[in-house]
Amino acid sequence: MGKIVVIGSANTDLVVKTDRMPSPGETILGGSFMMSGGGKGANQAVAASRLGGEVTFVARVGNDLFGERALAGYRAERLDVRHVTRDATVPSGVALICVDGAAENSIVVAPGANERLSPEDVDRAEAEIAAADFVVLQLEIPLPAVMRAAEVAERHGVRVILNPAPAAAIPDELLRRCYLLTPNRGECAMLTGMPVADAAGAERAADALLARGVRHVVVTLGSEGALVKGAESCERVAARRVEAVDTTGAGDTFNGALAVALSEGRPLSEAVRFATAASAIAVTRMGAQSAVPMREEVDALLA
Ligand code: ADP
Repeated sequence: MGKIVVIGSANTDLVVKTDRMPSPGETILGGSFMMSGGGKGANQAVAASRLGGEVTFVARVGNDLFGERALAGYRAERLDVRHVTRDATVPSGVALICVDGAAENSIVVAPGANERLSPEDVDRAEAEIAAADFVVLQLEIPLPAVMRAAEVAERHGVRVILNPAPAAAIPDELLRRCYLLTPNRGECAMLTGMPVADAAGAERAADALLARGVRHVVVTLGSEGALVKGAESCERVAARRVEAVDTTGAGDTFNGALAVALSEGRPLSEAVRFATAASAIAVTRMGAQSAVPMREEVDALLA
């Protein structure tokens, strides 16, 4: 089993379905309510675990009901939660999500404890990082913690996957420490200031990112699949044709799956095929964590 350390956000998603979004100052009666695990860090950790990785999750939750519930969920997913800190000074991270009749959503995130994840939290997990095959990072926690994680990983010769989401500027010092960067179309455009309308645009933008020091780039292109780019290589991997029901968290399943396949020693293009299969299953199901498939399902699809 590949050893993976995910350092990132832990949220609880509070989702209300409604026919239409409320206007400012308005109260409306909505429809059904659903509460589920969220946060890109937690989603990717759960995905990596279900898909066959041995996963340590480094995060912060509040000392409240949401934090307690989130922790119980991570344990049930067999994550090592010794480095999930309970912070008594702030609430757990929550996302308030309205989904309207057209499946359009409006989301407000209160990051809470996620904003207090610190470089010292990362240092406390140094032994686990040193023993890992891969460290997986996103940008929903403070940049100093992300930077420290990449630094500690580099010191121990551990490869880093950075999913640059949500889109934000990234210092070159961080990019140079990454084995793999996995932006989606919008993040790739934002990071480079270049249009990423098609695969050719994605390739040019990926080259610009390689020039800044990252070793490989995988640009995910939704239903159009992914572009895999290294210094001397470029490959398109088509998405699988499926009936998509909810694409929330497609990228999170993709990143968790990539980490698992790479940590098993598979070459990058094969790992992208594994991740493409896993995320294709995920988009046929509702929710983020709830949609992540089990390893057997992905293996069966690829057999
Ligand atoms: P994000 O969720 O981060 O925005 P993408 O939308 O690019 O990321 O999706 C990540 C991956 O999930 C894609 O590369 C693709 O393999 C898969 N995927 C996303 N949407 C679909 C879809 N409609 N059909 C099949 N696969 C999909």
